[in-house]
Amino acid sequence: MKSLHLLFVLALGAAYSADLKSGIDLTAIDKNCKPCDDFWRYASGTWLDQNPIPATQSGWGTMSVISDQNRERLKVILDAEVGKSKIGNFYAACMDTERTNKLGWQPIAADLEKIAKIASVADLYAAWRDSQLDGRLAPVTLGARADLKNSEQTIVSVTGGGLSLPDRNYYLNDDARSKRIRSEFVAHVERMLKLAGREGDLAGAAQKILALETLLAKPMLTRVERRDPYATYHVIGIEGATKLLPGFDFKSALTKLGIDLKTPVGVSEPRFMEELAKLTTTVPLEDWKLWMSWSLISSASETLSDSFRAENFAFNGRVMSGRREQDARWKTCVEVVDRLMADALGQIYVAKHFPPQAKQRMDQLVENLRDTLRDELKNSSWMAPATKEAAVKKLEAFRPKIGYAAKWKTYDTVTVSKEDLYGSVRSAALAQRKYRLSRIGQPRERDDFGMSPPTVNAYYSPTMNEIAFPAGILQPPMFDMSADDAMNYGGIGAVIGHEMGHGFDDQGSKYDAEGNLKNWWTPEDRKKFEERAACIIEQYNTLDVGDGLRHNGNLVVGEAMGDLGGVTLAYKAYKKSLNGKPAPVIDGLTGDQRFFIAFARVWANQQRPEAVRMRLTTDPHPISKWRAIGTLQNFAPFHEAFGCKQGDFMVRPVEKQCKLY
Ligand SMILES: [Zn+2]
Repeated sequence: MKSLHLLFVLALGAAYSADLKSGIDLTAIDKNCKPCDDFWRYASGTWLDQNPIPATQSGWGTMSVISDQNRERLKVILDAEVGKSKIGNFYAACMDTERTNKLGWQPIAADLEKIAKIASVADLYAAWRDSQLDGRLAPVTLGARADLKNSEQTIVSVTGGGLSLPDRNYYLNDDARSKRIRSEFVAHVERMLKLAGREGDLAGAAQKILALETLLAKPMLTRVERRDPYATYHVIGIEGATKLLPGFDFKSALTKLGIDLKTPVGVSEPRFMEELAKLTTTVPLEDWKLWMSWSLISSASETLSDSFRAENFAFNGRVMSGRREQDARWKTCVEVVDRLMADALGQIYVAKHFPPQAKQRMDQLVENLRDTLRDELKNSSWMAPATKEAAVKKLEAFRPKIGYAAKWKTYDTVTVSKEDLYGSVRSAALAQRKYRLSRIGQPRERDDFGMSPPTVNAYYSPTMNEIAFPAGILQPPMFDMSADDAMNYGGIGAVIGHEMGHGFDDQGSKYDAEGNLKNWWTPEDRKKFEERAACIIEQYNTLDVGDGLRHNGNLVVGEAMGDLGGVTLAYKAYKKSLNGKPAPVIDGLTGDQRFFIAFARVWANQQRPEAVRMRLTTDPHPISKWRAIGTLQNFAPFHEAFGCKQGDFMVRPVEKQCKLY
């Protein structure tokens, strides 16, 4: 009944929408581009031309503008907090580059000294155990994770790592670009070691670090392999983990962290741990120490002097993602506080910039989309009754979170000093790690919010079966309280639908209503589902994104399913909200046209060629432009709204059009 009532409220909004503005930025449209040739360009072409990628960025678009505006707001907040609170002093410490320049690499000197004293493999393992609470100095990390098959419980998860480059492919691929990146990486490591006061054959040292990381990359699963939750589900207990990596001594590691030894332990990639055990004896101890020193220097670089930051940018900014200039320091500092003391900063942000009415309106939109998805599932032409029932049960259990966490975290244990950036960062990071690890052995924490309030993003968690929308994303042109419904459904509505769709994508569909990894499909229906996924995989495998480059369909299938599901749901929910009445024509555009323009505006984003290449390798999301195009190529109501015909680029041949529900 509740949802029926809410549906009525929105329908009322639509009936009076003649008074509302369209919310569509007409000046963004490229009138010289035909909607059926390239709808991404049509909806935002003029805006894209007028908003080129800034020199400091690897890409720029609608969401970047909102993020940038949020950063400005956070700066205003932090400037006013300096000398008054921990977040203000944290920010001030970060802004004090005169001091960090004077200190050079001194803040990490003591830790480098500790690494230098490692004299045996036993010492090496001990150092890895000791570093569990702070930083990435070990290729093995203990963390807290829901037991995928009993998600009410938080267990110990053992994961591998140790790569500096963003994916194993960068170490193993033989194409010219990968080779060039590897040689640039070696030169970068050499310069960083020099900055940190190391002497001797630094070029040789950098080569050894690359060689060691290559050995770590080999036994790792690929990103596509990791998408299958069964491939990383190995709850084998402390004995099982010890068998894989005996030298690490899991018992003393867990004891040191205050974790009950009876807690279940899961190892995500057993093969990696086995290889790691071998590498501790086959790779010279000095090389391991080199690698640890490098990891420490690299991970601390943002908190050290300008030279470290410039060198870090030269590689990670310029070479890897094509950025030309470093961002203003204050932006980095705002991000550091947002990352490490999110709730203290977010609480002020929400009070100033997130009106309670926005939350109410979002609650309504979410419930309307849920109603629509329920209808879709119930009326599905291909699911058997048993599958439908389980799917609807899962949908009813979705927990929406809007804006910010139900409970704000406090930072009593964090020590911040205006005079000590490195120490402040460490203290805050330590508190964050301790909080996460304290969940182990406990029932899941329902009140956590996986993103900070000003974040311009949204998420679905399969083990929590929850969808979350931080306050930061609930702004124009995604969401506008003063605009007609078409724009809101096409914008944030499609985002809500996207997150709901993740509950039924290639990964999410393997979890049930309680968030447990458990099959609820009949074998025939699962087969039909896989066929639907295969349609999308084929589409993205074949779309040319420029220079002959293509997506890896198996990597982006989940996000692409979310996009298609999202636009389908949002469109149907929009039609339902009209309650049988025709939508008003505003600004010369029909309701359907406004809906699709709003949808495409979300994906108005351009990327530098370097960033495109990196994303195609590492990002499960398709490139923004292709999220708009690929999705709408499959969607008949869009073709109708703009009179697109078979043979147009924006129309996939009817027999190839992908559908989900
Ligand atoms: Zn997504």
